[in-house]
Amino acid sequence: MQVLGRLFNCINALLGLNTLKSLLRFWGFMLVLLPCITLMLIFTYYELQNTKRESAENLEQMITMQQDTIDKWFHERAAVIRDMANWPVLKAETEDIESINARIRQFLQSQDEFSAVIYVNKAGVTVAAPFATAGIDISDRPYYQKAAQGQEYISDVLTARGAADGQLVVVFSAPVFDEYRQFKGLMLGAVKLATIDKIMKQFQFGRTGETYLINQQGLMITESRFIGQLVKNGVAKDNARLSFPINSETLQVVSQGKTGTAAYTNYRGQEVIGAYRQLINRDWIIIGEVEKGEILESFYRQISIMLICFLVLMLATLPLTMVLEKRLATPIRRLIAGADAMRAGDYSYRVEQSLIDVSVSEIKTLCNVFNYMAENIRTKTETLNDANQALTVARDAALAASVAKSQFLANMSHEIRTPLNAILGMGELLGETPLTPEQEKYVRVSRSAGENLLNLINDILDLSKIELGHPTLNKSEFDLFIAVEETCQIILLQAQQKGIALHWHIKPETPSCLVGDPVRLQQVLINLLANAVKFTEAGEVTLEVSQRSQPEADFVELLFVVRDTGIGIPQDKLGPIFERFTQVDASDTRKYGGTGLGLAIAKRLVELMEGRIWVESMLGVGSTFYFTVIVGRGNETTEAAHLSCTGFIACQQPMPEAIRQEPLNILLVEDSADNQLLIEAYLKKTPYKLDIADNGQIAVEKFMARQYDLVFMDMQMPVLDGYQATRTIRNWEQEQGRTRTPIIALTAYALQEDGIKTRDSGCDAHLTKPIKKRVLLDAIAHFARRNLM
Ligand code: ADP
Repeated sequence: MQVLGRLFNCINALLGLNTLKSLLRFWGFMLVLLPCITLMLIFTYYELQNTKRESAENLEQMITMQQDTIDKWFHERAAVIRDMANWPVLKAETEDIESINARIRQFLQSQDEFSAVIYVNKAGVTVAAPFATAGIDISDRPYYQKAAQGQEYISDVLTARGAADGQLVVVFSAPVFDEYRQFKGLMLGAVKLATIDKIMKQFQFGRTGETYLINQQGLMITESRFIGQLVKNGVAKDNARLSFPINSETLQVVSQGKTGTAAYTNYRGQEVIGAYRQLINRDWIIIGEVEKGEILESFYRQISIMLICFLVLMLATLPLTMVLEKRLATPIRRLIAGADAMRAGDYSYRVEQSLIDVSVSEIKTLCNVFNYMAENIRTKTETLNDANQALTVARDAALAASVAKSQFLANMSHEIRTPLNAILGMGELLGETPLTPEQEKYVRVSRSAGENLLNLINDILDLSKIELGHPTLNKSEFDLFIAVEETCQIILLQAQQKGIALHWHIKPETPSCLVGDPVRLQQVLINLLANAVKFTEAGEVTLEVSQRSQPEADFVELLFVVRDTGIGIPQDKLGPIFERFTQVDASDTRKYGGTGLGLAIAKRLVELMEGRIWVESMLGVGSTFYFTVIVGRGNETTEAAHLSCTGFIACQQPMPEAIRQEPLNILLVEDSADNQLLIEAYLKKTPYKLDIADNGQIAVEKFMARQYDLVFMDMQMPVLDGYQATRTIRNWEQEQGRTRTPIIALTAYALQEDGIKTRDSGCDAHLTKPIKKRVLLDAIAHFARRNLM
């Protein structure tokens, strides 16, 4: 079965039959053709054999009859001569030749078969020979010798002696005995061979069939049926007897005296089928033959009829395959076209009902299912499209609303930050003046409220950004140790105020030079550390950093653990606290403040850094927050990076070095009078000289007129904003060939992309309002030192 299948596939591949149509056409023809050819071959073979056999049998039958007739002919002629030998006139002691002659003459005149009858005496001399020569000695002839032995004899074909036309005869002889049964002579009778021809002609048949006699030498004795034609063609003379040899191979067979049939080339050079048989009275052979062409005529006729029938049958397969094709291939082609149309998004395509009706049942079902499916898809697609359209409209509206909301939040944040800068800054400055304990308390409360408000604004701003779109990471190479230390420093003040110790520890094998977003990482850390400090009344907060695994050669998975000895979180609240606006309970909120956004933001950021965040906690004992991030491995490796790094921060930070430096010329570009006042107050006790420009335009003019060591640039200002002013200053510096003066953006725009925007315009750093005095002084010290180096 498998072999057949393979053969089928091979044939199809060889002939390139790869469509149902071509397969049906070809195999349809083949199904008719193959049995037809096989049948025809079998029929042809058997019919051919049959025809040949039948013809040979007919021939055999015929020559058998003919042989009987000829043998009878011999027998009768021999009997005639025998009768003559018994004539009383011959028995007398002294023959009366005259009487014998008269008797012979009388006999000869009464018939026309015998050409001569001769009486030969005992000595072998012809004595009575009317119409022939008497006195001839024939004692040397076989018929005399046979007669002398008392036997009858029939000669071969002989040419009649004395006959002018060379007439062929067969001589019959019979001995003549006297009344004492003594040999007395013999009677000879020459029978014209032509008389046998008459018998032979009785048995001629067909157009090409003939019978003839040959002698042992294979020479034809009887006259050919086609003698006229042979003479005409110059192949034979008038008397063509004994001049045509038959095929020597055949002669060999027939001369063995056997009876049989054979196919051979005859004396006329024609392919014939013949039957042969030897006569009883003589060693002559009678042959009956018919040309093969004539024998096979009826066979060819039958074959032709059969071929025509097959041809008609094959032509009939054409409509048959067309019908099959219509029932099988056409619907399948339509189904394929339908599938294509669907792929192209056209669901209106259907297989025609008229085609389905004439298909076979399986294909009918397939077409119906296809049509049903197409209709279903069309309706569902339409419904979906409608829904999609509605959704798109809704989404666009929601997006527009979200953008508007985010924009609003950003603007609000900016608007709140600007006065908050003054409030917090002034509060800070007020705290540095001599105050009564009560005043100090009021200032502390006001500053704490301001800080809380700032945190709230930061959280809202972060969340609005995260919700607005997908927050992106700003990757750069950073030092993990510095990032961790900076973060701890930020939390330090709160910890100090609550009398809580803050420990941090980076495990020895942790790499320090990494690639990632340090700002986002710090944001998560600050959130967790700030919470830890906020929810801890006594004890300590620790931060532990370690390398967890190395997923790929170029990446590191870091594990951060923030542990506190605070109030703890109930088990049932451990999961939800990472949801937005979730707090453990309302009373806590009142006591500790907060919005419930910090952990939600931290979770989103950690996930953005391909990590996860989770918490373990025990009520009244403390909480441990864990989070992982995957960061890249940086290029620089310093020795310090491989060492264990531990810190304990609990001391007051010294004032920045810059304060002890040379006085610097600083230009503050700020449109808000409150903020101008604040920065002036911040720098009051420093050696720095502050010059103020109310907008970007004035700033550019001042910058071109005087040498400044540092510029603080507000970004949103009337006349000329900070971005344009910075660009103009940078272009001017370039034109003049001057070294770059540090320009620090000092703005209430706190989004990350705002930082990118300010840097793009030419600023060296981005500080957000409200700004603390220490941050401002640090920045001055940092940039001034960098500038001096
Ligand atoms: P917020 O602190 O602004 O309320 P968070 O999202 O940072 O918002 O925290 C959500 C809540 O999870 C907090 O209100 C608090 O109830 C609980 N929580 C967070 N950190 C701790 C902690 N270290 N100890 C106890 N409770 C905590």
